[in-house]
Amino acid sequence: MSVADNDQPRDYGPTVILRHTAGDGTPPFHTLYGHLDHATLGHLEPGRRVAAGDVLGWLGGADVNGGWPPHLHLQVIALDPLCDDGMDGADPDNFPGVALQRLRSVWESVLPDPSALAGLPPGAVTATTPAADPTHRKRDLAARRTALLGSSPSLSYRDPIHVVRGLGAYLYDDAAHRYLDTVNNVPHVGHGNRRVAEAVARHSRVLNTNTRYLHGEIVALADELLAHFPAPLEVVFLVCSGSEANELALRMARCHTGNDGVVCLEGGYHGNTGGLVEISQYKFDGPGGSGPGDRVAVAPMPDTYRGRYRRGQGMTDDEPGLRYAEDVARAAARLDASSGGPGVAAFVAEPILSCGGQIEPPPGYLAAAYRHIRRAGGVCVADEVQVGFGRVGDAFWGFELQGARPNIVTLGKPMGNGHPVAAVVTTREIADSFANGMEYFSTFGGNPVSCAAARAVLAEIRDRGLQERARTVGGALLGELRELTLDHPFVGDVRGRGLFLGIEFVRDRASREPFPEACTYLVNRAREMGVLLSVDGPDHNVIKIKPPLVFGEAEAGLLVETLGAVLNESALRNPVDWIN
Ligand code: PMP
Repeated sequence: MSVADNDQPRDYGPTVILRHTAGDGTPPFHTLYGHLDHATLGHLEPGRRVAAGDVLGWLGGADVNGGWPPHLHLQVIALDPLCDDGMDGADPDNFPGVALQRLRSVWESVLPDPSALAGLPPGAVTATTPAADPTHRKRDLAARRTALLGSSPSLSYRDPIHVVRGLGAYLYDDAAHRYLDTVNNVPHVGHGNRRVAEAVARHSRVLNTNTRYLHGEIVALADELLAHFPAPLEVVFLVCSGSEANELALRMARCHTGNDGVVCLEGGYHGNTGGLVEISQYKFDGPGGSGPGDRVAVAPMPDTYRGRYRRGQGMTDDEPGLRYAEDVARAAARLDASSGGPGVAAFVAEPILSCGGQIEPPPGYLAAAYRHIRRAGGVCVADEVQVGFGRVGDAFWGFELQGARPNIVTLGKPMGNGHPVAAVVTTREIADSFANGMEYFSTFGGNPVSCAAARAVLAEIRDRGLQERARTVGGALLGELRELTLDHPFVGDVRGRGLFLGIEFVRDRASREPFPEACTYLVNRAREMGVLLSVDGPDHNVIKIKPPLVFGEAEAGLLVETLGAVLNESALRNPVDWIN
């Protein structure tokens, strides 16, 4: 008999393996009982004989067995998992309980159907694999998706992944392959986070309605959120998406200033509405776009690697930031009302540019740019949809890294860990200007369920020290990535803050010519090796790393190991052959 506690890191509670002997010369077989309660450990000890009818143990609750609903995992094993065959690393206490779909027939040959033993009718145990269910069969999904949803929504990877489950920093596909997720910053406190899921489930059962009633949850969330903001950012509007937050921010800025124009940044993306495509250079100058409208002026990306003012060109440390901020002043001047322009209502920028290619502006940039905008009569909007909520490690919000004070902050993606909740945070002065008699109402914004989700996210960040984790794990990862790529001819720059990092690919370091094909190759190869990465930047040559914040040292190690392996592949030198 084996009795083992699979608490950490496997997290599925105690297991017992029994050896059964009939005494009539038939070969022994084994049964495995999993997801048990800890009391089982004190009740049994390895080597003890048990007879028919003896109590073996007790089912574990969700708190001891990795969050699973209480259940018994019963497995019949026709080979001897307890025998010491001298194999290095053989571990009878960790006999496989799940297997890859493609290895199913192999495992079925040694793990017979346990129905009879459990007193169930024959065939009671049938695996419902996604492949067997037409609603979820991968080979049909892509075609049906395009037929039903049209072809505008994109899919990642040449061979798209059919994800069926997420847990922590990992995603699982329909064939039980596990992928390390460095792409998704929405499941901020981890895929399948139990606290968030339970908060949503609990409140859904009790009440979900709009904000025209008094309810404690919205007030509690506003209070907890504002505790993370410096004065005078003290009023919260709750909405459902980053786009809705930025739309509202634009309306507020226009209402407050009486102006119409917006200064935005090259490479910026702020949302999918008509009004936001208009200020998203990434979209209006991209495929299908129709260029900047009359109300918009674009300032260059404050990129000190590839941009017009670069690091180490004889400038003092604060010079690039000030120079790029002067570009913002020039863009504002182009909107000036005295020369027939719409006037400056707002400057909208991310504190670290995401679609722009993980670009952290040089020191002093935002504070100086904000001064110029205010002088031109506008207000400053920090789009924290990507980088907010502790991701940057050294601060809770990206704007704090720059010592800047926005007038309006927009929040989204990570705020509900996947539940659609977003917010605009602003000053009382702007909120008062916006309260001009026209009622403000967002049907779903700030409903009790969304607020409960967002509160659970804030509690998880606090209780699990996730901002600090982003700082330490992200800081160490940045160092390791720099070391890994130090001499690599195709890696031009490795940058970022906390768990918001970027690796820029170039054909050669001297010319800095972008090498998007190397990026595409790397992303697709890493996916084959079980690591998900994404590409961004105007030249599609920057690998983005922005995982859930539960990403730890083990995950960072796996990422570095996988990147190292792909960077050594000779095909990376000529990725076009492989891509085509
Ligand atoms: N701002 C930024 C910086 C974003 O990255 C996004 C989404 N990618 C948005 C706004 C829009 O958010 P949503 O998709 O939730 O509307």
